[in-house]
Amino acid sequence: MVSESITYQKEAETSPVYNVLANNNNNICDNLTGNNVSNCVDNNLPTQAVKVAVHVRPLIASERLQGCKDCVSVVPGEPQVQVGNFGFTFDHVYGNTALPSSRIFDECVAPLVEGLFHGYNATVLAYGQTGSGKTYTMGTTYTVGDDKNGIIPQVMDLIYDRMRSSKKNINYQVLVSFIEILNEEVNDLLDSNSPTGTRQDSYVGFCTRVSTPPKASIQIRETTNGEITLSGVSEVEVNNLEEMAALLEQGSLCRATASTNMNSQSSRSHAILTITLRQQRKLELNADNETSLLDHIPDDNLCAKLHLVDLAGSERVKRTGADGIRFKEGVHINKGLLALGNVISALGDEKKRKEGGHVPYRDSKLTRLLQDSLGGNSRTVMIACISPADSNAEETLNTLKYANRARNIQNKPIVNRDPMTAEVQRLRQQLELLQSQLSCCRPNGGAVEDTHILKKKIAWLEASNADLQRELQQARDGLQFCAQRVLDVLIERDELRHKLDLLRSGKTWDEVNGNDEYQACCLNDSLELLHAYTTKIQDFETSINSVEDNKCGTHMDTSLICNDGFSGVHTMQPNGDSRHIISRTPEEEEEAAAKELEHNRFQVSMDNELQELNERLKQKEAEMKSISNADNLILKQQFEKKLLELEEEKKNLQRERDKLLLEVENLACVSDEQTQKIREEYAEKLKLLESQLAELKRKQDSQAQLLRQKLKSDDAAKRLQEDIQRIKSQKVQLQNKIKQEGDQFRLWKASREKELLQLKKEGRRNEHELLKLQALNQRQK
Ligand code: ADP
Ligand code: MG
Repeated sequence: MVSESITYQKEAETSPVYNVLANNNNNICDNLTGNNVSNCVDNNLPTQAVKVAVHVRPLIASERLQGCKDCVSVVPGEPQVQVGNFGFTFDHVYGNTALPSSRIFDECVAPLVEGLFHGYNATVLAYGQTGSGKTYTMGTTYTVGDDKNGIIPQVMDLIYDRMRSSKKNINYQVLVSFIEILNEEVNDLLDSNSPTGTRQDSYVGFCTRVSTPPKASIQIRETTNGEITLSGVSEVEVNNLEEMAALLEQGSLCRATASTNMNSQSSRSHAILTITLRQQRKLELNADNETSLLDHIPDDNLCAKLHLVDLAGSERVKRTGADGIRFKEGVHINKGLLALGNVISALGDEKKRKEGGHVPYRDSKLTRLLQDSLGGNSRTVMIACISPADSNAEETLNTLKYANRARNIQNKPIVNRDPMTAEVQRLRQQLELLQSQLSCCRPNGGAVEDTHILKKKIAWLEASNADLQRELQQARDGLQFCAQRVLDVLIERDELRHKLDLLRSGKTWDEVNGNDEYQACCLNDSLELLHAYTTKIQDFETSINSVEDNKCGTHMDTSLICNDGFSGVHTMQPNGDSRHIISRTPEEEEEAAAKELEHNRFQVSMDNELQELNERLKQKEAEMKSISNADNLILKQQFEKKLLELEEEKKNLQRERDKLLLEVENLACVSDEQTQKIREEYAEKLKLLESQLAELKRKQDSQAQLLRQKLKSDDAAKRLQEDIQRIKSQKVQLQNKIKQEGDQFRLWKASREKELLQLKKEGRRNEHELLKLQALNQRQK
């Protein structure tokens, strides 16, 4: 075996095909691991590798006679074949000690036939040296009554079984064409007028010209979508299995075969039987049996082809002993197979494939016709037929290398639709989509109604929005005016309070007023002015309260509210027009109502609190007023004056008493009666003075008590003042809080208005869509 493998390597150097194979020995050996990965290589289409099965035929009688030995071994339980030192892994191995040949059809071909019914093209390609069993495996020479061991008769059976068991609403059309490529010419095996049409009788393996004029030569064409077709080839429609079998028989009888040293019935041409399956699925009627436009449109028109290829075997002239015409045929056969080898090499080389390298399909008619089957739109199974005889070991090895390389070919099968049907299908889908859209838009469909309601809502909202905007502006103006007035009054009040404080702290009216215009006014006038200002403050406070009360009333009166955008106050719609009922989704409505209710409650509670504070402020101010009123002030001044007078009187009396006491002491040293009398007078005078002094002291005490009371009342006034300040700051805080809440509510309201605008936009868009759809529907009618 070693010597044989050396011989093979030497020959490989001389042959371009063999060179390619020899250069990829490593790759071939790598394939022993059996990796067969499918990946996306183009246009994101799912790819599918060419499946390769090996069929090892038994030793035939002639080989046994020559004493040939079996040189092919199969690894038990594995799809692996061993020839000499070389091992190969394939998808399947049949024959010899491997699986029985009868399983080839079920495992390799039947799935392709099933795929045919789903619109997938398929190819079964028998490859191998001459006499290796290709024709036997394919069953190309089947005649009615023979055993149906070959693939083709079983394919025919399965197709008709499948059609019989399929649905009633599918119309099938089966077309058969049968061609051969002989000497780089395509011959129609089903055309009785073709040069091959008379071979039945004069069958000698080459063409005999007949008198009937030949048809125009068959041309290989490529359609715009890349499909390879043959122009001028008969495509015969068959209606049953028998017709198909008869055509196969007729065609195979026309095929060129001849006897060579290698095979007594050697195929001298590559034969391709093509079964085209067209299926038209009729759409079922509507449930109510009404016919519609759709009933006249086919649901799906699939058209797929199954190529069953029986190649002529590679041969070496030395072994076949061919000469003359046979030699010429052999050269062409080898030429075609060489081109096929190059195509397989180009497609099987992953690196080249990724680089988008050139695939030499155009080098021969065979490769051109198999363009779809190898690397194109087809599911392909290659059956490598080999002879186990050691005399054929070299060719067997080449076949296995070829086949192994073919496993790397990635095809891109797709569902094949008749272009017209595909377009109709697309339009039909579009129509269905539009009809469903239209039915949604019909008045009873709801969408139009929705749009109508939406439009109405938008109109209502717009009108109410305009009204509210107007009222908002009015309220803003009024409020601004009030706020200005309140500010002025507050300033005046604060000034007056300040003056009051100064007066309380003991400053005179003149000092407090400085050189202003009131300097000359008397105290009463000032008090009157003070009174007038206080009244004014009260009036303004009352007016503020009433304004706030009104606002509260508004909150309570209506649920239709709108933010004025300034102080968070809301105004009611001027009338009870139904347009102002803002209709939204129930959830939104609920949420909005809850928010507004909460806002109203907050406003009411805040306003109440504010009112309460104002009440307290008023009360405190009244108390303050009572404490610091003008009478008190005058009384205080009188008391003070009186106290001073008393003090002065007391001092005078004390001085007088002291003087008298001194005189009494001076008189003490004089001891006559006159002096005694004067002393008694002085003593009485002194007594009087003493009593006067006591009286004065009492008065002074009462004055002091009054002063203490006054101080107390001053303290109370101070406390009151502090209370007033505290209440005021509370009031400011509360007002701020109200404003803040109002601002928040305004923001929320603004977002609601934005949402409204979006709704409006959506409404317009819907309307536009509807118009478009209606126009479209009108056109289609
Ligand atoms: P090819 O078409 O490859 O040139 P054939 O199919 O004509 O070869 O087969 C050559 C010979 O071998 C034929 O006589 C055929 O009957 C025989 N043969 C081929 N395969 C088998 C097989 N699996 N079992 C028995 N005989 C076979
Ligand atoms: Mg053959």
